[in-house]
Amino acid sequence: MHNKTLSELSAALQAGEFSSTELTQSYLDRISSLDPQINAFVTVTQQLALDTAAAADKRIAAGTAAPLTGIPLAQKDIFCTEGVKTTCGSKMLDNFISPYDATVIENFNAAGAVMLGKTNMDEFAMGSSNETSYYGPVKNPWDINKVPGGSSGGSAAAVAARLAPASTGTDTGGSIRQPASLCGITGLKPTYGRVSRYGMIAFASSLDQAGPMTRTAEDAAMMLNCMAGFDERDSTSAQRDVPDYTANLNDSLQGLTIGLPKEYFGEGLDAQVGSAVEAAIREYENLGAVVKEISLPNTHLAVPTYYVVAPAECSSNLSRFDGVRFGYRCDDPADLEDLYKRSRGEGFGAEVKRRIMIGAYALSAGYYDAYYIKAQQLRRLISDDFKRAFEEVDVIMGPTAPEPAFGLGEKSDDPITMYLSDIYTIAANLAGLPGMSVPAGFVNNMPVGLQIIGNYFDESRLLNVAHRYQQVTDWHARTPEQFK
Ligand code: GLN
Repeated sequence: MHNKTLSELSAALQAGEFSSTELTQSYLDRISSLDPQINAFVTVTQQLALDTAAAADKRIAAGTAAPLTGIPLAQKDIFCTEGVKTTCGSKMLDNFISPYDATVIENFNAAGAVMLGKTNMDEFAMGSSNETSYYGPVKNPWDINKVPGGSSGGSAAAVAARLAPASTGTDTGGSIRQPASLCGITGLKPTYGRVSRYGMIAFASSLDQAGPMTRTAEDAAMMLNCMAGFDERDSTSAQRDVPDYTANLNDSLQGLTIGLPKEYFGEGLDAQVGSAVEAAIREYENLGAVVKEISLPNTHLAVPTYYVVAPAECSSNLSRFDGVRFGYRCDDPADLEDLYKRSRGEGFGAEVKRRIMIGAYALSAGYYDAYYIKAQQLRRLISDDFKRAFEEVDVIMGPTAPEPAFGLGEKSDDPITMYLSDIYTIAANLAGLPGMSVPAGFVNNMPVGLQIIGNYFDESRLLNVAHRYQQVTDWHARTPEQFK
């Protein structure tokens, strides 16, 4: 069962080949025997999962099932789940049980999907390796001495190790695409505003976006059908109809124009990763696509711009964790100031504190114009690069990450090198564009992802472009040896 895709599982459930209860139990068994090796889950919701599966079985029998009814899923531990602990990978929220569900969770519940548990992540989604989690690092199922990427590393590893058929992630600067790339799965960051952020614990509100992490593009389309849509509780959610994202998966790619930004193939890119991406592009030419070199001249500004904007927003968003209203509170505070200082000092990890300090500095009176305003101006220049590019091409392709998964601990003492892991993904967040990572080969037995960036709300096309490639390649179908 665990080797089937979502669409296959959905068909098998409808056909009565097995029940959701059997399917759910088989995933729970895999999680209990295999997750100790990779640490992908913070919480496993065993009883809840079995209860939901039983309800799904009734719905299937009654003939009122939706495509995801009875399908087990893993949810990133950044989505608030009523009655189930939501930690965001932080000691600060180690005791936090949300009184309500995030919209994304509500949508999956309404569809009758089964939640297996909550996945491990970098603390407050800040990181590229999953090493900043209070619950310990996640290991890459392809090599447990390597990182899975981050911040949605638990979600990526769970799907790669077949501990869940699909999961959710969030992407502020690359946190869906980069771990998808490092774990050999498919990840989609939708257009900013496509999926509601309500109940998704905020990191950087103008960049955060939730999306699916799956084995195939077809599965990502099924997930996005359920996740996307306007939500009046998120003022930045887009008032646009949700198309059926599975409808155009098989469209021909004849005449598709692919832009290859020369800045994405230069210095800093591992040569073998570059070759894998080039081989993928040739596959697209075989499918009838036309390739064009383009330039995104402000690419080099993306990482520095992001590391002003994201910390600025996080310093503001995380001010709510004050030891009074949510989560961790220090023991025996002497007075209110001591309560604030020690609760935050003890509750947050080092990377989160670093970001809060950088953000508070960038927003402070004397530096606001020099840093924050400047970063907003650069953000516009970066968006304009894409705007110009999309006048000439349909999609943009390049590597998702500059190199395959690196060793655990290898970059943890060097934040700047770590930040460069997202050099190809961050610009899409700054511009609000949708982006995908699709498995496109292996380098030294570790997976490599191809990134596909699309124009605003062009998710259908991205999924079509990814799906056609997955029809002629099998990178996405490979499973790490120990998890077969
Ligand atoms: N790695 C980036 C960071 O540390 C992006 C994280 C994310 O997308 N949530 O901020």
